[in-house]
This record gives sequence, C-alpha cells and structure tokens, in this order.
Amino acid sequence: MTATEELIDSFPETGRHDIRKLFERFHFTESQKLEIAKDEADLRQWKEESFIHIADYPEIEKRKDGRKGEAYLSQHRAYMKTLRKEETDYSTFFPEVHPRLKYRTEMIDKPIVLGRCPCPVDGEKTRCCKLTTMDPVEQCAFSCSYCSVQSFYSEKEIHAVSNLREKLDSLTIPEDVWHIGTGQASDSILFGDDYSTLSALSDFARKHKNIIIELKSKSGRDVFSSREYPRNMFFTWSLNAPTIIEKEEHLTATLEKRLENAARARDNGNLVGFHIHPMVYFRGWEDEYTGIVRMIEEKFTPDEIAMISIGTLTFTKSVLKKLRENGEESRVLEMELTPAAGKFSYPLDVKEKMFRTVYSSFSEQFRNNIFFYLCMEDPSLWKPVLEREYSSDKEFEMDMKQNYFRKISRP
Ligand code: SF4
Repeated sequence: MTATEELIDSFPETGRHDIRKLFERFHFTESQKLEIAKDEADLRQWKEESFIHIADYPEIEKRKDGRKGEAYLSQHRAYMKTLRKEETDYSTFFPEVHPRLKYRTEMIDKPIVLGRCPCPVDGEKTRCCKLTTMDPVEQCAFSCSYCSVQSFYSEKEIHAVSNLREKLDSLTIPEDVWHIGTGQASDSILFGDDYSTLSALSDFARKHKNIIIELKSKSGRDVFSSREYPRNMFFTWSLNAPTIIEKEEHLTATLEKRLENAARARDNGNLVGFHIHPMVYFRGWEDEYTGIVRMIEEKFTPDEIAMISIGTLTFTKSVLKKLRENGEESRVLEMELTPAAGKFSYPLDVKEKMFRTVYSSFSEQFRNNIFFYLCMEDPSLWKPVLEREYSSDKEFEMDMKQNYFRKISRP
C-alpha cells in the first residue's frame, strides 16, 4: 500500500470518497497525490473546510491544455500557504478532546538504561546540551496534541520500572554523564511517588552529588509538602500560553497551577526551572507569552531559578505521519513546516521574532542571573536572541554545567 493510500485510509468515509473522486477527475503524479492527502488531513485536524469542497472548479475546467490537475494544485497550494503563514487563529477553534483510553499502570521489571537526548542530528545542526535521559516511567496520562510519547508506547498501559532503587544502585554511570532528565518518556511528577520513583531518584541524587537530576512536568500535583529532595534535583515545568494549554495541552494543569507547584518546590528548598516550550505562533502570542514572563518574575527571584529554556514546535517525519493518521483535532500543524535539520519547524525569522520577544521581556536582573538557552534550535539563532553563542555543543554543555553547579552551591 502506498503512503498516500495508507493516509487516505485513516480518513472518515466521506473524506476518503471525496479525495478518491478528485484523483479520478484530474491527473496528479504520486507525489502530488500525497501532498494533497497530507494537506487534507491537516485541514481536517484544524477543523477547516476541505479544499476539495471550495476549489474554483469553473476556473480549473477552463484549462484546455489537459493540465487541470496542475490548475487544481496551484489553487490548493495558494490556499494552504495562506493558512500556514498566518498566525494560527484559536478564537474559532474548539477541539473535541478525545478522552484517553482507559489505561492501566503496571510495574514492569525492565532494566534502567541511560539514553541520549533525542534532539541531536549529525553535524551539530542544532545546538544540544547532550542531556542524558532515563525513563523510569513510560507513557503519559496527559494528552498534548503535539506529543510523540503517546504514539511510541501502548495507549492502554503506563509502565513504571519496578525495583528502581536497586536498579539505580547497580547502574554504571559513564564519567561524562552529569545531567539526567526523566521527562522524555512521561511527565516526571504526574504519578508522584506512587511507584517509589521520586524517592528512588532522591536517594540516587543524594548518593551522586556530581549529577543533576532534572524532572520536567506540566502537572499541578503536590509532591513537595511531605517530602524533601536533594538540591541537585531540579524541578522544571513546561510553560505555555494559556490559549495553547487550553486548546492543545489537554488534561494538563493550568499555567497558574504549574507555577503554584513550582513555588512549592522552591519553598521546599529546591531549584526550579522553566521550559517556555513549545511556543506556538498564534494570534495573541506576544501578549500571552510575555504574560508568562511577568508571572515568573512576580513569583520568583533569579536565585531560585536554575534555568529557562525557550523552544518551539519541531516534528520529525514519522511524528507528522502519526499525527496526521490519528486525526485528532488540533491546530499545531497549521504552520509553515520548514525543513530544519532533518525535522520540520517554523521558518527561522518567525522563531527569532518569538524567542527574542520572550527573552527581551525578562528584566536585566533575570537575564543576567539565570542560565537561558534555546532548546534544539539552529545555532544561528543564539546570538540574535540571547546575545551570546557557542562554537560547539561541548562548549554549551560545559557552560550549562558550570552555571547549574554554581546555583546549587548557593544557599
Ligand atoms: S506532558 Fe509531556 S509526555 Fe505527557 S502528553 Fe504532554 S508532552 Fe507528552
């Protein structure tokens, strides 16, 4: 079965019928058919009218040179280009949220392994901090529409690694590992200590003072009131504009709740961090993202924050394919999908505009006393956005390390 047929098969019946009729009516090459099918899948997810229903057929039929397919395609491309280029309009978008299938959580006896951050591509085309990853929990109960975790693991089961403490005790840690993140395969605190994950990680961090454990979350779950964590455990929250949280980060905590939870971590003596990520280019983005900056500055001092990263939507080919096939209502793909180091993202000028707006709205005191970085981004964006840059990933990694440990050692 071709990729086009596979995608069309995931459409509802009327969509399948319409697109097959179109392919019978005009001549298209195989790659043109795939392009049309992908765009139709996108329009369906965005809850926009199918272009098949709104094309100007009298105009297309005027073509006498037999190239009616091309005439259709040029109308189609112009329409898609306009939609993708504009800031996404969420004011007219009310997605139906598919409740997650009932899942069960199971302890599984799986070895604990250290992995590599999924961002690097050959040749340092994106600036990467070389985060080491560890997955004590696999799969997530939240339902962010842009997330690839959902499709990597079974929808029906969330796995927590059993006997984590013993496994961490016997783990061989390579000499160059100093920064381990647990938020790549699930939300790091969503399950609290239900499976003894947090207590095992705390013991591990206490034993290895030269390692930083970074937890990443969108949860409002209080895991701080009755528990203390070592200072080399960082609690970080992904923050997003309220519109994006409401329309795309389903089932997660609101922005206020995430920040309240971060304040609990801070009150408990831990350093916190924020990932303003993934930024979405939507109508109203400036106000809402700079609003996040104000909220951070009102609630925290620079000494309490270890890091702030800024980043945006980036998709691999296979994630794009999965998002299109699952067809859930979302406007995250209503963007110019520009090739970016083997993946697809916003064009550089759009990213620069968004990142600069966020960074420059932080006060000087915050900019000078917190380690800011761009997550998984083109190295050329660093200087115009953050007013500094690195010549290699190693240099970035070492600077991050120095900054983090300096913050940890402050009372
Ligand atoms: S919280 Fe993280 S892991 Fe969970 S669905 Fe959202 S992006 Fe995916």
